[in-house]
Amino acid sequence: MITLSFSGIIVLFVSLPLLMTAFLAAYYSVRSLHRPLRSQDSIYECAHCGHVYAIARSRPMDRCPRCGTLNDAVRS
Ligand SMILES: [Zn+2]
Repeated sequence: MITLSFSGIIVLFVSLPLLMTAFLAAYYSVRSLHRPLRSQDSIYECAHCGHVYAIARSRPMDRCPRCGTLNDAVRS
């Protein structure tokens, strides 16, 4: 039979949840690397010429690449 001392039981109860948390953190950090970059784009629709464009930076307003008019982000 395996005998564990009191300090061995304490180490086991502390280290097992810690290891599980570390494995979950590693799993979710690897999974987040595969997230498509397009989800971070902001989408704009030009009020002057109607051109729809997406820019990777998150700004509340950005210039239209066709006519240069400042437009609000439709979705950011
Ligand atoms: Zn425009």
